[in-house]
Amino acid sequence: MGFTKKISADEARRCPQCAQPVCLQGCPLGIDIPGFIRLLRESDAVSALERIKKDNPFPAICGRVCPAPCENACIFHEEGSPIAIRALERYAADFGHKPNSRIKTVIKSNGKKVAIVGSGPSAMMAASFLLKAGLNVVMFEAANQPGGVLRYGIPEFRLPQHILEGQFEELQSQGLELHTNIFVGRMKSLEELARTFDALLLATGSSLPNFVSMQGEHLVGVYYAEEFLMRLQVLSKANVLSCAGDLIRGTRTVVIGKGYAALDAARMAVRLGQQVHWVFGGLEEEMGLSNYDLKESLEEGINIQAPFEALKIMGDPQGLVEGVQCHPLEIVEGLGGLSLYPSKEGPIVFEAQTVILANGQKANSFLATMTPQLKVNSNGHFWIDEKTSMTSLEKVFAVASAVAGSMTVVEAFAGGKAVAKQIMEYLK
Ligand code: SF4
Repeated sequence: MGFTKKISADEARRCPQCAQPVCLQGCPLGIDIPGFIRLLRESDAVSALERIKKDNPFPAICGRVCPAPCENACIFHEEGSPIAIRALERYAADFGHKPNSRIKTVIKSNGKKVAIVGSGPSAMMAASFLLKAGLNVVMFEAANQPGGVLRYGIPEFRLPQHILEGQFEELQSQGLELHTNIFVGRMKSLEELARTFDALLLATGSSLPNFVSMQGEHLVGVYYAEEFLMRLQVLSKANVLSCAGDLIRGTRTVVIGKGYAALDAARMAVRLGQQVHWVFGGLEEEMGLSNYDLKESLEEGINIQAPFEALKIMGDPQGLVEGVQCHPLEIVEGLGGLSLYPSKEGPIVFEAQTVILANGQKANSFLATMTPQLKVNSNGHFWIDEKTSMTSLEKVFAVASAVAGSMTVVEAFAGGKAVAKQIMEYLK
């Protein structure tokens, strides 16, 4: 649930407007946080939204799915009550539109053309800044709908699809040319695109899971979080979520890992009637979640087992999952800080018919395989010159997860913003 006008004004008034606002250091997009909160104090959502959009054209998305590192930086974070910056951003995004503000005129083109391969958060952000600079931007997406992880990796209850669709409508109203169902590398080569465009951006994300080496990982009922979420998104789009019973057996699920993919998978499992244990081999504060999201997951009934080390996935003679053996860990304070050791209690088993593994993702190497001149790192990500973000191919840039593996949505947005500036510099 988003904030009401009153709650948003009250929360904005709680912000002390620090002389040296440390929250600014937390936002990868450089949003003027005290500035937009000051406007919300005066209940001026329209100006607050304008202020945010100077640095972030997608506040309706960040206001819902950003892990809010700005709140971790807030001076009230230590005492557990940071200013709810993310929720305030969402309020401004939802209620700050002027009537007809979505109807935009296409910005006059300067004649330069940029192709973007991929349509996830880094691609969207780069497109937004390139369009504003007057470039022609053409986006190629392999799937039948755009958005990448925002479309297929984040459940509807966290990011409603109509919000994403609205953002693409806005980009298209600014001149974006979007082509879906185009698999660059197979249906169009990079060389072909390079002949037509002045610059190319590879924003192909990281679509392959980092496989976990654990006994029982191949049993029936074991999924990787991203695959699990994608299948459910496809089922829900087809209005056949009732078929999710084929995906998830029994009544108990164990999620192993950390981060937002683990959280979303756990929350989806709860919505499908599962009793969920979430096993993580570190401290709760190392799970990569905002305080708010952690609290919400507990309220929804997810049993967080941390620190617990998952030892093996257990199966029955038919090869079906029947549980996860875990060892509780003890926190021991030593000279070098805190360490975790297996407790004397010995291993325990969480019964489960479904296990979801969340261990991050890596880039799909297909495009690199089809384009041998494109240099990749040992982990399969595109190599780039750190100063320019250009790959080993002239005029071809790469960004975000395609270069660095799993990252949060706001980090990918920030990558898109930075690479847009580098492309503009190159095209000067
Ligand atoms: S984008 Fe994320 S980090 Fe930046 S102000 Fe919004 S919630 Fe905070």
